[in-house]
Amino acid sequence: MSSGVLIVGAGHAAGALAAALRQNGYADPITLVGAEPLPPYQRPPLSKAWLKGEIEADALLLRPAAFYADKGISLRLSTRVVSIDRASATVRLESGETLPYDRLVLATGSRLRALDVPGVGSAGVLELRSAEDAQKIRAALAPGRRLVVVGGGYVGLEVAASARSLGVDVTVIEREPRLLARVASPTLSQFFARSHAEHGVTLVTGASVVAFEAAAGAVTGVRLLDGRVFDCDVAVVGIGALANDGLAAAAGLACRDGVVVDERARTDDEAVYAIGDCTQRPVPRYGRSLRLESVPNALEQAKQAAADICGKPVPKPDLPWFWSDQYDIRLQIAGLSIDVAQQVVRGDPASGRFAVFHLDGTGCLQAVEAVNSVAEFAAARQWAAVGQRLDPARIADTAVPVKQIPDAPAAG
Ligand code: NAP
Repeated sequence: MSSGVLIVGAGHAAGALAAALRQNGYADPITLVGAEPLPPYQRPPLSKAWLKGEIEADALLLRPAAFYADKGISLRLSTRVVSIDRASATVRLESGETLPYDRLVLATGSRLRALDVPGVGSAGVLELRSAEDAQKIRAALAPGRRLVVVGGGYVGLEVAASARSLGVDVTVIEREPRLLARVASPTLSQFFARSHAEHGVTLVTGASVVAFEAAAGAVTGVRLLDGRVFDCDVAVVGIGALANDGLAAAAGLACRDGVVVDERARTDDEAVYAIGDCTQRPVPRYGRSLRLESVPNALEQAKQAAADICGKPVPKPDLPWFWSDQYDIRLQIAGLSIDVAQQVVRGDPASGRFAVFHLDGTGCLQAVEAVNSVAEFAAARQWAAVGQRLDPARIADTAVPVKQIPDAPAAG
Protein backbone atom coordinates (compact mmCIF):
# COMPACT_ATOMS: atom_id res chain seq x y z
CA MET A 1 0.00 0.00 0.00
CA SER A 2 1.14 3.58 -0.67
CA SER A 3 2.49 5.52 2.29
CA GLY A 4 0.20 8.32 1.13
CA VAL A 5 0.52 12.03 1.67
CA LEU A 6 2.35 13.31 4.72
CA ILE A 7 1.69 16.98 5.47
CA VAL A 8 4.15 18.78 7.73
CA GLY A 9 2.22 21.51 9.50
CA ALA A 10 -1.43 21.57 10.54
CA GLY A 11 -2.41 25.16 9.77
CA HIS A 12 -4.87 26.63 7.29
CA ALA A 13 -3.00 25.43 4.20
CA ALA A 14 -2.54 21.92 5.60
CA GLY A 15 -6.19 21.55 6.65
CA ALA A 16 -7.41 22.81 3.28
CA LEU A 17 -5.09 20.41 1.46
CA ALA A 18 -6.22 17.35 3.42
CA ALA A 19 -9.86 18.17 2.67
CA ALA A 20 -9.13 18.92 -1.00
CA LEU A 21 -7.30 15.62 -1.45
CA ARG A 22 -10.34 13.68 -0.25
CA GLN A 23 -12.66 15.85 -2.38
CA ASN A 24 -10.49 14.94 -5.38
CA GLY A 25 -10.94 11.26 -4.59
CA TYR A 26 -7.55 10.59 -3.03
CA ALA A 27 -7.94 7.25 -1.24
CA ASP A 28 -4.50 6.55 0.25
CA PRO A 29 -3.47 7.56 3.79
CA ILE A 30 -3.24 11.25 4.68
CA THR A 31 -1.34 12.31 7.80
CA LEU A 32 -0.99 15.82 9.21
CA VAL A 33 1.84 16.41 11.65
CA GLY A 34 1.46 19.69 13.54
CA ALA A 35 3.43 21.26 16.41
CA GLU A 36 0.35 22.99 17.90
CA PRO A 37 -2.19 21.07 19.98
CA LEU A 38 -5.22 22.16 17.88
CA PRO A 39 -6.55 20.72 14.64
CA PRO A 40 -6.23 23.19 11.72
CA TYR A 41 -7.77 26.54 12.68
CA GLN A 42 -8.20 30.00 11.22
CA ARG A 43 -5.70 32.62 12.33
CA PRO A 44 -7.44 35.77 10.98
CA PRO A 45 -10.01 35.98 13.85
CA LEU A 46 -7.23 35.79 16.48
CA SER A 47 -6.53 39.53 16.18
CA LYS A 48 -10.18 40.47 15.57
CA ALA A 49 -13.43 38.72 16.60
CA TRP A 50 -11.72 36.22 18.91
CA LEU A 51 -9.61 38.83 20.67
CA LYS A 52 -12.72 40.93 21.28
CA GLY A 53 -14.45 37.90 22.79
CA GLU A 54 -17.08 37.78 20.03
CA ILE A 55 -16.48 34.14 19.11
CA GLU A 56 -15.40 31.06 21.05
CA ALA A 57 -12.55 28.63 20.41
CA ASP A 58 -14.66 26.10 18.47
CA ALA A 59 -15.52 28.74 15.88
CA LEU A 60 -11.82 29.06 15.05
CA LEU A 61 -11.55 25.48 13.81
CA LEU A 62 -11.44 25.10 10.05
CA ARG A 63 -13.54 21.95 10.36
CA PRO A 64 -14.93 20.10 13.39
CA ALA A 65 -12.38 17.70 14.89
CA ALA A 66 -14.61 14.75 13.88
CA PHE A 67 -14.16 15.63 10.19
CA TYR A 68 -10.63 14.20 10.16
CA ALA A 69 -11.63 10.87 11.67
CA ASP A 70 -14.64 10.65 9.31
CA LYS A 71 -12.40 11.21 6.29
CA GLY A 72 -9.64 8.87 7.45
CA ILE A 73 -7.19 11.73 7.93
CA SER A 74 -4.71 11.04 10.70
CA LEU A 75 -3.81 14.02 12.92
CA ARG A 76 -0.50 13.91 14.78
CA LEU A 77 -0.79 17.05 16.91
CA SER A 78 1.71 18.51 19.42
CA THR A 79 4.28 16.71 17.27
CA ARG A 80 7.29 18.19 15.52
CA VAL A 81 9.12 16.97 12.42
CA VAL A 82 12.84 17.52 12.90
CA SER A 83 14.27 16.28 9.60
CA ILE A 84 13.46 14.95 6.17
CA ASP A 85 15.34 12.07 4.54
CA ARG A 86 14.50 12.30 0.85
CA ALA A 87 16.56 9.22 -0.06
CA SER A 88 14.38 6.94 2.08
CA ALA A 89 11.24 9.13 1.70
CA THR A 90 10.78 9.46 5.44
CA VAL A 91 10.59 12.21 8.03
CA ARG A 92 11.89 11.97 11.57
CA LEU A 93 9.89 13.24 14.53
CA GLU A 94 11.28 14.83 17.69
CA SER A 95 10.54 11.53 19.47
CA GLY A 96 12.88 9.70 17.07
CA GLU A 97 9.98 7.94 15.30
CA THR A 98 10.12 7.96 11.49
CA LEU A 99 7.13 8.29 9.19
CA PRO A 100 7.20 7.28 5.52
CA TYR A 101 5.67 9.24 2.67
CA ASP A 102 4.77 8.77 -0.93
CA ARG A 103 4.27 12.53 -1.31
CA LEU A 104 5.48 15.02 1.26
CA VAL A 105 3.84 18.44 1.58
CA LEU A 106 5.55 21.18 3.59
CA ALA A 107 2.96 23.52 5.08
CA THR A 108 5.24 24.86 7.79
CA GLY A 109 4.01 28.46 7.66
CA SER A 110 5.90 31.41 9.02
CA ARG A 111 7.25 32.52 12.36
CA LEU A 112 7.29 35.98 13.85
CA ARG A 113 10.32 38.16 13.47
CA ALA A 114 11.90 38.59 16.92
CA LEU A 115 12.62 41.99 18.42
CA ASP A 116 16.09 41.59 19.84
CA VAL A 117 16.24 44.28 22.54
CA PRO A 118 16.85 44.16 26.31
CA GLY A 119 13.78 43.29 28.37
CA VAL A 120 11.97 41.45 25.56
CA GLY A 121 11.66 38.38 27.81
CA SER A 122 9.77 40.30 30.53
CA ALA A 123 6.34 39.09 31.57
CA GLY A 124 3.68 40.95 29.61
CA VAL A 125 5.73 41.25 26.39
CA LEU A 126 3.60 39.16 24.04
CA GLU A 127 3.30 38.28 20.36
CA LEU A 128 0.47 37.00 18.21
CA ARG A 129 0.78 34.00 15.96
CA SER A 130 -1.02 31.07 17.57
CA ALA A 131 -4.31 30.60 19.40
CA GLU A 132 -2.26 30.17 22.57
CA ASP A 133 -0.60 33.57 21.99
CA ALA A 134 -4.01 35.15 21.40
CA GLN A 135 -5.31 33.61 24.62
CA LYS A 136 -2.49 35.27 26.55
CA ILE A 137 -3.19 38.65 24.96
CA ARG A 138 -6.91 38.35 25.62
CA ALA A 139 -6.22 37.55 29.28
CA ALA A 140 -3.97 40.62 29.59
CA LEU A 141 -6.43 43.15 28.13
CA ALA A 142 -9.01 44.86 30.31
CA PRO A 143 -10.54 48.34 30.45
CA GLY A 144 -8.02 50.94 31.60
CA ARG A 145 -4.95 48.79 31.06
CA ARG A 146 -2.16 50.31 28.98
CA LEU A 147 -1.01 48.46 25.86
CA VAL A 148 1.94 49.37 23.66
CA VAL A 149 1.93 47.68 20.26
CA VAL A 150 5.28 47.51 18.50
CA GLY A 151 4.75 47.37 14.72
CA GLY A 152 2.09 49.17 12.69
CA GLY A 153 1.39 46.35 10.21
CA TYR A 154 -1.76 44.23 10.03
CA VAL A 155 -1.15 42.42 13.31
CA GLY A 156 -0.36 45.61 15.20
CA LEU A 157 -3.29 47.61 13.88
CA GLU A 158 -5.86 44.84 14.23
CA VAL A 159 -4.76 44.20 17.82
CA ALA A 160 -4.88 47.97 18.48
CA ALA A 161 -8.44 48.24 17.13
CA SER A 162 -9.64 45.19 19.10
CA ALA A 163 -7.98 46.46 22.27
CA ARG A 164 -9.64 49.89 21.91
CA SER A 165 -13.03 48.22 21.66
CA LEU A 166 -12.20 46.52 25.00
CA GLY A 167 -11.50 49.93 26.59
CA VAL A 168 -7.72 49.49 26.64
CA ASP A 169 -5.41 52.52 26.40
CA VAL A 170 -3.33 51.90 23.22
CA THR A 171 -0.09 53.26 21.74
CA VAL A 172 1.31 51.95 18.44
CA ILE A 173 5.01 52.35 17.66
CA GLU A 174 6.10 51.87 14.05
CA ARG A 175 9.64 52.05 12.70
CA GLU A 176 8.63 53.29 9.23
CA PRO A 177 7.46 56.86 8.68
CA ARG A 178 3.91 55.56 8.04
CA LEU A 179 1.61 52.70 9.08
CA LEU A 180 1.22 49.63 6.83
CA ALA A 181 4.26 50.90 4.91
CA ARG A 182 5.13 47.47 3.53
CA VAL A 183 1.66 46.56 2.30
CA ALA A 184 -0.39 49.67 1.49
CA SER A 185 -0.33 53.01 -0.32
CA PRO A 186 0.32 56.32 1.48
CA THR A 187 -3.39 57.25 1.01
CA LEU A 188 -4.37 54.15 2.96
CA SER A 189 -1.69 54.74 5.59
CA GLN A 190 -3.03 58.27 6.17
CA PHE A 191 -6.59 56.99 6.36
CA PHE A 192 -5.72 54.33 8.95
CA ALA A 193 -3.60 56.80 10.94
CA ARG A 194 -6.56 59.18 11.13
CA SER A 195 -9.03 56.39 12.00
CA HIS A 196 -6.87 55.05 14.81
CA ALA A 197 -6.24 58.54 16.16
CA GLU A 198 -10.01 59.21 16.11
CA HIS A 199 -10.48 56.04 18.13
CA GLY A 200 -8.03 57.33 20.72
CA VAL A 201 -4.90 55.41 19.71
CA THR A 202 -1.58 57.23 20.18
CA LEU A 203 0.54 56.68 17.06
CA VAL A 204 4.31 57.05 17.01
CA THR A 205 5.92 56.56 13.58
CA GLY A 206 9.57 56.69 12.52
CA ALA A 207 10.50 55.39 15.97
CA SER A 208 12.90 52.64 17.03
CA VAL A 209 12.33 50.58 20.15
CA VAL A 210 15.59 50.03 22.04
CA ALA A 211 14.37 48.32 25.23
CA PHE A 212 11.46 47.12 27.31
CA GLU A 213 11.60 48.53 30.84
CA ALA A 214 10.61 46.10 33.57
CA ALA A 215 10.08 45.93 37.32
CA ALA A 216 10.15 42.62 39.17
CA GLY A 217 10.36 40.87 35.80
CA ALA A 218 7.18 42.42 34.38
CA VAL A 219 7.08 45.01 31.61
CA THR A 220 6.44 48.61 32.68
CA GLY A 221 7.32 50.54 29.55
CA VAL A 222 8.82 50.69 26.07
CA ARG A 223 11.90 52.84 25.54
CA LEU A 224 12.64 54.49 22.17
CA LEU A 225 15.97 55.48 20.67
CA ASP A 226 15.16 59.17 21.22
CA GLY A 227 14.84 58.51 24.97
CA ARG A 228 11.05 58.62 25.23
CA VAL A 229 9.45 55.92 27.36
CA PHE A 230 5.83 54.82 26.89
CA ASP A 231 4.51 53.29 30.11
CA CYS A 232 2.50 50.11 29.72
CA ASP A 233 1.11 47.05 31.52
CA VAL A 234 1.36 44.88 28.42
CA ALA A 235 3.18 45.05 25.06
CA VAL A 236 2.45 43.18 21.84
CA VAL A 237 5.20 42.85 19.24
CA GLY A 238 4.07 42.44 15.60
CA ILE A 239 7.02 43.28 13.40
CA GLY A 240 6.65 40.86 10.52
CA ALA A 241 7.03 37.19 9.72
CA LEU A 242 9.73 34.92 8.27
CA ALA A 243 9.25 31.74 6.25
CA ASN A 244 9.72 28.45 8.10
CA ASP A 245 11.90 26.96 5.39
CA GLY A 246 14.64 25.49 7.60
CA LEU A 247 13.49 21.85 7.30
CA ALA A 248 13.39 22.16 3.51
CA ALA A 249 16.79 23.87 3.32
CA ALA A 250 18.37 21.24 5.56
CA ALA A 251 16.98 18.56 3.22
CA GLY A 252 18.67 20.24 0.26
CA LEU A 253 15.51 21.66 -1.34
CA ALA A 254 15.85 25.00 -3.12
CA CYS A 255 14.94 27.88 -0.79
CA ARG A 256 15.08 31.63 -1.35
CA ASP A 257 13.15 33.50 1.34
CA GLY A 258 10.79 30.51 1.34
CA VAL A 259 10.69 27.06 -0.25
CA VAL A 260 10.85 27.56 -4.02
CA VAL A 261 7.81 26.01 -5.75
CA ASP A 262 6.24 26.07 -9.21
CA GLU A 263 2.64 26.75 -10.30
CA ARG A 264 1.68 23.26 -9.09
CA ALA A 265 3.21 23.86 -5.65
CA ARG A 266 6.03 21.37 -6.47
CA THR A 267 9.52 21.83 -5.11
CA ASP A 268 12.60 20.73 -7.04
CA ASP A 269 11.97 17.18 -5.74
CA GLU A 270 8.96 15.71 -7.53
CA ALA A 271 7.84 13.87 -4.39
CA VAL A 272 7.83 17.06 -2.29
CA TYR A 273 5.39 19.96 -2.41
CA ALA A 274 5.18 23.14 -0.33
CA ILE A 275 2.18 25.37 0.26
CA GLY A 276 1.23 28.55 2.14
CA ASP A 277 3.31 31.17 3.95
CA CYS A 278 6.51 29.09 3.76
CA THR A 279 6.74 29.23 -0.04
CA GLN A 280 8.42 31.39 -2.63
CA ARG A 281 5.97 30.98 -5.50
CA PRO A 282 5.42 32.21 -9.03
CA VAL A 283 2.82 34.96 -9.38
CA PRO A 284 2.22 34.80 -13.14
CA ARG A 285 0.13 37.98 -13.34
CA TYR A 286 3.20 40.00 -12.30
CA GLY A 287 5.81 37.77 -13.96
CA ARG A 288 7.79 37.15 -10.81
CA SER A 289 8.18 34.92 -7.81
CA LEU A 290 7.10 36.14 -4.37
CA ARG A 291 6.33 35.04 -0.85
CA LEU A 292 2.67 35.77 -0.09
CA GLU A 293 1.49 35.74 3.51
CA SER A 294 -2.26 35.33 3.22
CA VAL A 295 -5.11 32.86 3.65
CA PRO A 296 -6.17 33.09 -0.04
CA ASN A 297 -2.60 32.11 -1.00
CA ALA A 298 -2.69 29.13 1.37
CA LEU A 299 -6.02 27.97 -0.08
CA GLU A 300 -4.88 28.45 -3.67
CA GLN A 301 -1.71 26.42 -3.20
CA ALA A 302 -3.61 23.72 -1.30
CA LYS A 303 -5.84 23.33 -4.37
CA GLN A 304 -2.82 23.27 -6.69
CA ALA A 305 -1.07 20.54 -4.72
CA ALA A 306 -4.25 18.47 -4.28
CA ALA A 307 -5.02 18.60 -8.01
CA ASP A 308 -1.46 17.72 -8.99
CA ILE A 309 -1.20 14.82 -6.54
CA CYS A 310 -4.54 13.48 -7.83
CA GLY A 311 -3.51 13.87 -11.49
CA LYS A 312 -6.21 16.48 -12.13
CA PRO A 313 -5.84 19.79 -13.99
CA VAL A 314 -4.37 22.47 -11.74
CA PRO A 315 -6.72 25.45 -11.28
CA LYS A 316 -5.97 28.74 -13.04
CA PRO A 317 -3.83 31.06 -10.87
CA ASP A 318 -5.72 33.53 -8.70
CA LEU A 319 -4.93 37.19 -8.34
CA PRO A 320 -3.44 37.64 -4.84
CA TRP A 321 -5.84 39.32 -2.43
CA PHE A 322 -5.90 40.35 1.22
CA TRP A 323 -8.29 41.82 3.75
CA SER A 324 -8.23 43.44 7.16
CA ASP A 325 -11.01 44.47 9.57
CA GLN A 326 -10.39 47.31 12.03
CA TYR A 327 -13.25 49.07 13.89
CA ASP A 328 -16.02 49.40 11.28
CA ILE A 329 -13.49 49.49 8.44
CA ARG A 330 -13.25 46.63 5.97
CA LEU A 331 -10.12 46.88 3.85
CA GLN A 332 -9.92 44.61 0.81
CA ILE A 333 -6.89 44.59 -1.46
CA ALA A 334 -6.85 42.87 -4.86
CA GLY A 335 -3.58 42.50 -6.67
CA LEU A 336 -0.12 43.81 -5.88
CA SER A 337 1.15 47.37 -6.30
CA ILE A 338 3.95 46.40 -8.65
CA ASP A 339 5.19 48.68 -11.49
CA VAL A 340 2.66 51.33 -10.50
CA ALA A 341 2.93 54.68 -12.26
CA GLN A 342 -0.31 56.31 -11.10
CA GLN A 343 -2.71 56.02 -8.17
CA VAL A 344 -6.28 57.19 -8.63
CA VAL A 345 -8.61 57.67 -5.67
CA ARG A 346 -12.32 57.02 -6.16
CA GLY A 347 -14.49 58.44 -3.40
CA ASP A 348 -13.52 60.62 -0.48
CA PRO A 349 -11.31 59.04 2.22
CA ALA A 350 -12.93 61.44 4.74
CA SER A 351 -16.26 59.66 4.09
CA GLY A 352 -14.75 56.34 5.20
CA ARG A 353 -15.64 54.80 1.84
CA PHE A 354 -13.14 54.98 -1.04
CA ALA A 355 -10.84 52.93 -3.24
CA VAL A 356 -7.32 53.50 -4.54
CA PHE A 357 -6.74 52.19 -8.06
CA HIS A 358 -3.11 51.46 -9.00
CA LEU A 359 -2.31 51.77 -12.72
CA ASP A 360 0.90 50.96 -14.55
CA GLY A 361 2.57 53.29 -17.08
CA THR A 362 0.15 52.18 -19.83
CA GLY A 363 -2.98 52.72 -17.72
CA CYS A 364 -3.54 49.03 -16.93
CA LEU A 365 -4.95 48.14 -13.52
CA GLN A 366 -2.40 46.42 -11.29
CA ALA A 367 -4.19 46.52 -7.94
CA VAL A 368 -6.97 48.12 -5.95
CA GLU A 369 -7.25 48.95 -2.26
CA ALA A 370 -10.93 49.20 -1.33
CA VAL A 371 -12.15 50.62 1.98
CA ASN A 372 -15.77 49.76 2.74
CA SER A 373 -16.21 49.53 -1.06
CA VAL A 374 -17.26 45.99 -1.89
CA ALA A 375 -18.46 46.80 -5.44
CA GLU A 376 -15.15 48.46 -6.35
CA PHE A 377 -13.24 45.51 -4.89
CA ALA A 378 -15.30 42.89 -6.73
CA ALA A 379 -15.09 44.62 -10.10
CA ALA A 380 -11.47 45.70 -9.83
CA ARG A 381 -10.43 42.20 -8.80
CA GLN A 382 -11.57 40.95 -12.22
CA TRP A 383 -9.94 43.86 -14.04
CA ALA A 384 -6.63 43.64 -12.20
CA ALA A 385 -6.47 39.90 -12.97
CA VAL A 386 -6.34 40.68 -16.69
CA GLY A 387 -4.61 44.07 -16.54
CA GLN A 388 -7.65 45.95 -17.87
CA ARG A 389 -6.78 49.42 -19.19
CA LEU A 390 -8.86 52.07 -17.38
CA ASP A 391 -9.38 55.79 -17.82
CA PRO A 392 -8.26 57.61 -14.64
CA ALA A 393 -10.96 60.28 -15.11
CA ARG A 394 -13.72 57.62 -15.16
CA ILE A 395 -12.27 55.89 -12.10
CA ALA A 396 -12.27 59.15 -10.14
CA ASP A 397 -15.79 60.17 -11.28
CA THR A 398 -18.19 58.61 -8.75
CA ALA A 399 -21.10 59.58 -11.05
CA VAL A 400 -19.87 56.75 -13.33
CA PRO A 401 -21.25 53.48 -11.93
CA VAL A 402 -18.46 51.08 -10.97
CA LYS A 403 -19.30 48.49 -13.60
CA GLN A 404 -19.25 51.13 -16.33
CA ILE A 405 -15.75 52.42 -15.52
CA PRO A 406 -14.15 50.42 -18.38
CA ASP A 407 -16.74 51.55 -20.97
CA ALA A 408 -15.75 54.14 -23.57
CA PRO A 409 -17.32 57.51 -22.73
CA ALA A 410 -20.36 58.37 -24.90
CA ALA A 411 -19.44 60.42 -27.98
CA GLY A 412 -20.26 64.16 -28.03
P1 NAP B 1 4.04 43.34 8.67
O1 NAP B 1 2.85 43.62 7.84
O2 NAP B 1 5.35 43.04 8.02
O3 NAP B 1 4.19 44.63 9.61
C1 NAP B 1 5.19 44.74 10.55
C2 NAP B 1 5.56 46.21 10.67
O4 NAP B 1 6.41 46.36 11.80
C3 NAP B 1 6.32 46.71 9.45
O5 NAP B 1 5.81 47.95 9.06
C4 NAP B 1 7.73 46.78 9.99
O6 NAP B 1 8.53 47.77 9.37
C5 NAP B 1 7.49 47.20 11.42
N1 NAP B 1 8.67 46.98 12.24
C6 NAP B 1 9.70 46.12 12.02
N2 NAP B 1 10.60 46.20 13.01
C7 NAP B 1 10.15 47.13 13.87
C8 NAP B 1 10.65 47.65 15.08
N3 NAP B 1 11.78 47.21 15.59
N4 NAP B 1 9.92 48.61 15.71
C9 NAP B 1 8.75 49.03 15.20
N5 NAP B 1 8.23 48.59 14.04
C10 NAP B 1 8.92 47.63 13.39
O7 NAP B 1 3.80 42.11 9.65
P2 NAP B 1 2.77 41.85 10.86
O8 NAP B 1 1.75 42.90 10.96
O9 NAP B 1 3.62 41.55 12.05
O10 NAP B 1 2.08 40.52 10.39
C11 NAP B 1 2.72 39.28 10.58
C12 NAP B 1 2.07 38.23 9.72
O11 NAP B 1 0.70 38.08 10.01
C13 NAP B 1 2.14 38.55 8.28
O12 NAP B 1 2.28 37.30 7.64
C14 NAP B 1 0.80 39.15 7.98
O13 NAP B 1 0.49 39.06 6.61
C15 NAP B 1 -0.07 38.26 8.83
N6 NAP B 1 -1.34 38.91 9.18
C16 NAP B 1 -2.15 39.32 8.19
C17 NAP B 1 -3.33 39.93 8.50
C18 NAP B 1 -4.22 40.38 7.39
O14 NAP B 1 -3.92 40.08 6.23
N7 NAP B 1 -5.31 41.06 7.71
C19 NAP B 1 -3.68 40.17 9.81
C20 NAP B 1 -2.83 39.76 10.81
C21 NAP B 1 -1.65 39.11 10.46
P3 NAP B 1 9.67 47.28 8.30
O15 NAP B 1 8.95 47.12 7.01
O16 NAP B 1 10.64 48.42 8.35
O17 NAP B 1 10.27 45.99 8.81
